[in-house]
Amino acid sequence: MIKFLDLHKINLQYEEAFQKKFEAFLDKGWYILGESVKVFEKEFAEYCGTKHCMGVGNGLDALVLIFKATIQLGKMQKGDEVIVPANTYIASILAIIEADLVPVLVEPNEETFNIDPEKIQQAITPKTKAILVVHLYGQLADMERINTIASQNNLLVIEDAAQAHGCKMGVRSGKMEEKKAGNLSYAAGFSFYPGKNLGALGDAGAVTTNDDELAKMIYSLRNYGSETKYQNDFVGVNSRLDEIQASFLSVKLPYLDKENAIRRTIAKRYLSEIENSKIVLPFYDGSENHVFHLFVIRTQKRDELQNYLAENGIQTMIHYPIPPHKQKALAQFNHLSFPITKKMHDEVLSLPISPVMTEEEIDFVVKILNQY
Ligand SMILES: *Cc1c(COP(=O)(O)O)cnc(C)c1O
Repeated sequence: MIKFLDLHKINLQYEEAFQKKFEAFLDKGWYILGESVKVFEKEFAEYCGTKHCMGVGNGLDALVLIFKATIQLGKMQKGDEVIVPANTYIASILAIIEADLVPVLVEPNEETFNIDPEKIQQAITPKTKAILVVHLYGQLADMERINTIASQNNLLVIEDAAQAHGCKMGVRSGKMEEKKAGNLSYAAGFSFYPGKNLGALGDAGAVTTNDDELAKMIYSLRNYGSETKYQNDFVGVNSRLDEIQASFLSVKLPYLDKENAIRRTIAKRYLSEIENSKIVLPFYDGSENHVFHLFVIRTQKRDELQNYLAENGIQTMIHYPIPPHKQKALAQFNHLSFPITKKMHDEVLSLPISPVMTEEEIDFVVKILNQY
């Protein structure tokens, strides 16, 4: 069987290094907010090209902490509106709600699956204070236009970069300075959930930013709003990156670019070799602005295709089967209509893609799809 994502095989590549880290961790006996977190924060900030990186408990918390810190700094107020894509993983929207802000859902561009800048423009009201951009499936959103709209309207831009570790902007055109996801806005939230392109062996996340004030506030808020032990300056939370997870992430980070390149190579093969009129392949401009966290095709009879692939031993997933505005948890949005978002949720199917897929597996996926 071809697994959708063979996490065991991915992490097996690093087993020896993980074991060394674990032994050193046991020897040291320091479990929370120690040297390993500091080291990884420095490495990941350097990787993203940002001034700061703050390790946190997970990707959702990374986003929540950005919003809470921004409010604490007086740059936003509870009840302000935040524009967010209607087609995203629900975490993006939950983060806004958790910080007592109001999500305003906006439809994507049908080709790229990413938020449509025109529609951002139309959704701006006097209460809008920020745009939460999601680089969905690992492809950068149109940051140039979004940042322009934001500066014209005095809005903060925040990136949900949970699927976009290592995405680069401006590589192909050569016009711009090369910048990575996480360094394209006021602040970005990353997830190191095991299945992400940079995955820990458990829950983990981080915030990146170039803003000193925001960084300082998040360092405090993630640890009970406290800088000095037992002295609490703010109503904080407990959301810290574990020492052991930080040390595992330090093992994997040097290989992230290589793993992303393998994902792009597989994607290019799928794009050039899958030929079937029943299948719509994803948009890709050939640059490094896509790290193919997911390779998402579209088809009218999605369940039929998924069953056919399963019968042939190919595991697939749906990202995502129910749009956020139709979820029971978000009843306040259930009456809204987002036709593009709905169509996507009905038609999308994610094919296996990972840095440990073999040539034979790729050949097989292509062959079976072309025979459908
Ligand atoms: C995974 C993910 C998150 C949440 O990350 P966790 O670490 O699971 O909390 C947020 N947004 C998007 C787009 C994601 O894919």
